This record gives sequence, structure tokens and C-alpha cells, in this order.
Amino acid sequence: MGIAVSPIQIDSNASDFISKPRKMLIDGKWVNAASGKTFPTYNPATGEVLAQVAEGDRADIDLAVQAARRAFDSGPWSRLTPSERGKLVWKLADLLEEHIEEFATLETLDNGKPLTVARAADVPLAVDMFRYMAGWATKLEGTTIPISVPYTPGAQYHAYTLREPVGVVGQIIPWNFPLLMAAWKLGPALASGCTVVLKPAEQTPLSALRLGELIMEAGFPDGVVNVVPGYGETAGAALAAHDQVDKIAFTGSTEVGKLIVHAAAGNLKKVSLELGGKSPNVVFKDADLDTAIAGAASAIFFNHGQCCCAGSRLYVERPVFDQVVEGLSAKAKKINVGPGLDPTTHMGPLVSEEQLQRVCNYLEIGMAEGAKATSGGRKIGGKGYFVEPTVLVDTKDYMKVVQEEIFGPVVAAIPFDSPEELLPRANDTVYGLAAGIWTKDISKAHRLAASLRAGTVWINCYNIFDASLPFGGYKQSGWGREMGKDVLELYTQTKAVCARL
Ligand code: NAP
Ligand code: MG
Repeated sequence: MGIAVSPIQIDSNASDFISKPRKMLIDGKWVNAASGKTFPTYNPATGEVLAQVAEGDRADIDLAVQAARRAFDSGPWSRLTPSERGKLVWKLADLLEEHIEEFATLETLDNGKPLTVARAADVPLAVDMFRYMAGWATKLEGTTIPISVPYTPGAQYHAYTLREPVGVVGQIIPWNFPLLMAAWKLGPALASGCTVVLKPAEQTPLSALRLGELIMEAGFPDGVVNVVPGYGETAGAALAAHDQVDKIAFTGSTEVGKLIVHAAAGNLKKVSLELGGKSPNVVFKDADLDTAIAGAASAIFFNHGQCCCAGSRLYVERPVFDQVVEGLSAKAKKINVGPGLDPTTHMGPLVSEEQLQRVCNYLEIGMAEGAKATSGGRKIGGKGYFVEPTVLVDTKDYMKVVQEEIFGPVVAAIPFDSPEELLPRANDTVYGLAAGIWTKDISKAHRLAASLRAGTVWINCYNIFDASLPFGGYKQSGWGREMGKDVLELYTQTKAVCARL
């Protein structure tokens, strides 16, 4: 079976944007790569080249870091009041909101996700993140501290803390939510008063580049945000290792996260990491099964399973196992897989040929090890990187498809007999990003939530995100939290000031 592609009218601003080669943003100017090189970004629904983009490398990263350094150390940015900073971030949110259709279209073209989803989730969530963080700019406060120094009897002190921005921040983001990941990273950095060099993923650089234009339009001073597209091994690695960068914030694979930690060791820059997952989603027999089945489907099939928190291990209490698997498989079969621009599409292509190969490889390994697909299980032929939504049964806990992050629309459904037997199995993973629990017994749900080693636990819901809710991983799923007030810890540092009176 192939995917039928009919010509679809696209947003004219988005088509204008991709009609010319895109430059990179360094020190407030749009420039070519120092090497003059460009690289293609592809439309995953067709496999065709969408646009050429300047290919940043070490030299460009160096220029961008110098610009960010100047903007932080001596530029007008460092003299803005918190309120002025907050207003700029809010202005950026307003501009983004005015361009929802254009950004949603760019996301769909570059990443493949359905336009309906980009319009309803990716862009509005990015707008909301900027607004939420704009409010924090004026609320980053220190404290006064009564101190009791034993070796200066009779002396009086006035001691207090200042919360200051960490400085120049390198931000490296993935392709699964290109604009939203940029917003998760830029929002807190800008609210805190940091300056930034952002490297988007090679597969999806377009929305970050367009956002760079809005950042300049909003009135951010030159060099506060620099956007350098390019490859991870070159531009990304140079940014992670740069000794004038004070902090690196990374979202992506656990494997590359470890490389980032090594690269950061040179100048001991601060590191925050949001990495992979293999999240358990647990359905008890006393759950509202219709809701749980729909929830299990969206936990794995939303964004084509290309979510770090995807509910990819579905544990179902044995008496309702067959019913849940049947319901989930029926839902999987009803998913319309097609180009993201088609309004009837529920699930678009995977982001790249490489990702398609990766997912298909896991499917082959799973089947060879004895797993069976009750729906899907294969790639969809023809143009584009499409794969069927897949439910696997008859897995064993040691199998690769149960242990490793597939990052595609593939769920392993696994029966369990009791919460006591379930818990060690649910926690038996190097990851600890998220988990789901479906039950009407609220005490049981909260007890299990406390015992699961995961940074987020959803009860009777899944994939609920809010700018105010911290998100991040236990174990090898990462260091630090994105969003909420927790993330501001990653972009500020505390100075203790002590004065003798
Ligand atoms: P990845 O390699 O970890 O890419 C994430 C970001 O890191 C991209 O901007 C990438 O640049 C950059 N990068 C790659 N190597 C680097 C290096 N040595 N130094 C500095 N930066 C580097 O992820 P991927 O290859 O796109 O996807 C592979 C797997 O990662 C997926 O199958 C999935 O399991 C996982 N993943 C997780 C998330 C998440 O949200 N946690 C997101 C995406 C992928 P390039 O784009 O040029 O490679
Ligand atoms: Mg692309």
C-alpha cells in the first residue's frame, strides 16, 4: 500500500519562506556559513528537498558565541530591566501567535506531523511557554539571610542572595517538536537574562530560523539569540565544547547526551539534559477501559511515537489484557496515515529515512525474537517515510523492543498480575522520563505514582503538558527539569553577598 498524495494549497508565507536558501542568524544579521556550505532539509511526506539551509560549523559557532558573549557581558541586553526583558519575551509570543498558520505549515512540511496537530498543539504551546516565561522575568528574587558567625562575636551583618543569569547558553534541540523545543529552551533563558546560541536539528531547522526573524522583529538586541543550523557532529559538538559557553542545554538521545557531558567537561560548563524514555503505561482492570484504551493509543501514536515520553510499554492487568489489546489494535487500524497537510490525516510520516529504517529495524528484530503484531508491523511503501501504527504482543521483558527506545508508533502490550509484580518490571529500564496509570482506585494510583521512578506520572490521562509543569527525567532520561519554575534553576545562579554593618 502506498500513500496517495494530492496537491494541497499551503500557507503562502510558509511557501515564501522555503522558496529561498535560508541563512543563519549571528549577531542580529542573516549570514551565510563561513564555509559557504549549505545542506538540504527534506519533506518527509515526499522525500523531496524542501529548502537549502546554511551549514554552520565550528567557525560559525565561534562567531555566534562571541556575539552572545558580547551581548551578555557588555551589550544593552545586560542593562535592560527585568520588566523590559519580560515585555520582549511577551512580544515574541504575540508575534508567534499572529503567525500560527505559517509556523504550523513549516512544522508540517519539515517534520511531517499533521497540520491539525501543529496548529492545535505545537504552535500554541510554544506561544504559551513564552508568555509563561515572560512573567517570570520580574520574579527571580533572592532572599535575605540572618547569619550567625561564631568567630566574630558581636559583629552584625546584612547578608542576601542575588539570582543572576548563568551567561551564554548553548542550546541543542531535536526534530520531534522543532518549534516547541526551541520555545522550551529560549523562554527560560531569555526570561533569566541569558544569551543564546541555538542549534536546531538538521532534519528540522526551518521553524527555528523563522522564529529568529520574529526575535529580531520583537526588538531583542543583536547577539542575544543566535541561530546556527548545522550537523550535530560538527556545529553541535563545537557548541558543546566551546570554552566561552557557560551552560549547555540539550534535548535528544541518551547516547548523544553522554557525548555532551564529555564535551562540556573542558570548561566545566553547566549541563542540562532531556533525554530518551521507555515509559510504562499501566492499565488496571478497574479502569474505565474505553478511556484507558483511547489514552493508550494517544500515548504511543501521538506525534507518530516520536515523543521522548511515549507510552511504549503498555502494562495491562491480565483479566482485561485481551480486551485492551483488541481495542487498541482496532484504534491503530483506524488511524489515517498520510501527508501532514491532508486534513484527514491522523498520523504523518516519520521524520526521516534514517528514522524509518531505525523503526523498521526494531520491528524486524522484535518479530525475529518472537513478538507478534496485532496491528501494523510494516512500513508503508511508496514515497515518504510512512510506517503502520503497530501493537506488539508476546514480548519478553528482555527483548530489545521492550528495553530500547524505538521512537516510532510501536507499543509493546504486556500483561501483569498485581501491582507488586508490576512495579519492579515497570522500573526495570535505564530510563525514567514518564509513566501513565489508568484506574478508578485513586489511592492505588497515588501509591504507584510515588513508587515509579519517573519525572512525570499521568493518572487517567497522558501527554498533558503545561508551561507551569516541570518535565524531565530520572536515571538516564536526563539532568534537570524543563518548564515550570524548576527550569529557572538551570538558567540562574545564586550569588551570596555579605556586608558587615
Ligand atoms: P540526536 O542525535 O540525539 O539529536 C539531537 C540533537 O543533538 C540534534 O540537534 C543533533 O544534531 C545534535 N547532535 C547530534 N550529535 C551531536 C554531538 N556529537 N554533539 C552535539 N550535538 C549533537 O537524536 P537523533 O539522531 O535525531 O535521533 C536518534 C534517537 O534519539 C531517536 O530515535 C530517539 O530515540 C532519540 N531522540 C530523543 C528525543 C527526545 O526528545 N528526548 C528527540 C529526538 C530523538 P543533528 O540533527 O545534526 O544530528
Ligand atoms: Mg525536514
